[in-house]
Amino acid sequence: MFYTSTRDNSIKLTASQAILKGLSDDGGLFVPSEFPKLSKSLKEISELDYKETAYIVMKDFLNDFTEDELKSCIEKAYDSKFDTEEIAPLTEAEGVYYLELFHGKTIAFKDMALSILPHLMTTAAKKNNSDKEIVILTATSGDTGKAAMAGFADVPGTRIIVFYPKGGVSKVQELQMLTRRGKNVKVVGVKGNFDDCQSKVKELFSDVSLKEEMAKKGFAFSSANSINIGRLVPQIVYYVYAYAKLLKEERIKDGDKINVCVPTGNFGNILAAFYAKQMGLPINKLICASNDNKVLFDFFKSGTYDKNREFILTDSPSMDILISSNLERLIYLCEGLDDKKNKALMDSLKTTGKYSLNSEFSKIKDEFVGEYASWDDCKKKIHDLYEDTGYVIDTHTAVAAASYDKYVKETNDKTVTVIASTASPFKFSRSVMKAIDSKYENEEDFKLIDILSKAANVEIPEAVKEIQTLPVIHDTVVEVKDMITAVKESMNL
Ligand SMILES: *Cc1c(COP(=O)(O)O)cnc(C)c1O
Repeated sequence: MFYTSTRDNSIKLTASQAILKGLSDDGGLFVPSEFPKLSKSLKEISELDYKETAYIVMKDFLNDFTEDELKSCIEKAYDSKFDTEEIAPLTEAEGVYYLELFHGKTIAFKDMALSILPHLMTTAAKKNNSDKEIVILTATSGDTGKAAMAGFADVPGTRIIVFYPKGGVSKVQELQMLTRRGKNVKVVGVKGNFDDCQSKVKELFSDVSLKEEMAKKGFAFSSANSINIGRLVPQIVYYVYAYAKLLKEERIKDGDKINVCVPTGNFGNILAAFYAKQMGLPINKLICASNDNKVLFDFFKSGTYDKNREFILTDSPSMDILISSNLERLIYLCEGLDDKKNKALMDSLKTTGKYSLNSEFSKIKDEFVGEYASWDDCKKKIHDLYEDTGYVIDTHTAVAAASYDKYVKETNDKTVTVIASTASPFKFSRSVMKAIDSKYENEEDFKLIDILSKAANVEIPEAVKEIQTLPVIHDTVVEVKDMITAVKESMNL
């Protein structure tokens, strides 16, 4: 087992090399040459805790890490940074299981992978005798930025630069980033949207002269975005864990299939569920939920991916994306690992903003269903679920929950379903409270956090408490074209 590029099959890297590099020089993404099968039965896994499950799932993907190395990374990642020993608890509401992925340090699902990525990366650097300082370049739609900074802050041998769309994230998300301390962290607002940030970051990764200049000074780039395989692999774990938990609690029988419904942006989280299925996890449908930026919904209907449309700022900002990078990994698989064909499609996306699949599309349609939910749908879902059960979900999870309701209405599918709950409602308290009652329209943000805490009967998470007192220490805002200058300045190039 090795890692190759979706755009050049002659590339052959070990797992640790792929994690260090982040993105392939040809602009492609690293993919495993094969999918290992789960090495224990689901029955056996149902007796394991989160960390033990993580080891079983990850060891065959990260096959050049020793047992000690991987176990040590897992131990350091999934500790008391999480506010529950379960790490990823399942909550049942109205017969659906919400897989709560927001119990980490920055209260969004990005913590699930970004708690371990810095450890995987520094271990990978040691294994490969790399003496370069790793420069993590990251584009964020709101949650990756803070989670990556929390993971990499003051980690020796690394520094991190985060670009976020100025005006395109929630107040709490922005404050979380701008108050982040750490000698090696830098946050830069960009006058553009997430796609602008992500495309420019990918361009910088492929900038040969910049990389040469950096190498001379002892620096090398890597990525903390979900294009890094070191983020994708840890995300497979919680789908296996959720299934095992349902089995243990006798909500399903061994071998029963489940549906998984995921609020989707960059297609990383749902791709991890698809990878879990390739490992043998019994999954029926993967329901891909979009907000009003419904490129993926249209893609799953028609087989044509077309980003030529207005970019809409929504109440689920972490999903405001028109170029879902990780879809490339799925396309590559369904195209029969044809790197030339895949490269042609991605070139077409770059030049014309779209591409179409032909016969291969039927394979994808068997596995995935696209749904979408407008803000009106989401508001109603947040409101009704709260009224009926007292359970409060965030705006992203609401996109998934409302999309799932549509799916059930259309298909009458009764399969047990897990919805990926990707953020704490406290991160989006303004939108959430407005959905619960329009009378909260004009309250100020921190007041709404108190009201939410009482309404949901949940204590205010530490991540939200701390930003109320921490000083803002980052204030750089640049044009898209000046992102390169910000990067160079941070390394004194
Ligand atoms: C990042 C994010 C998503 C989208 O996940 P992808 O892996 O990019 O599809 C959904 N919800 C929240 C809260 C997020 O932070």
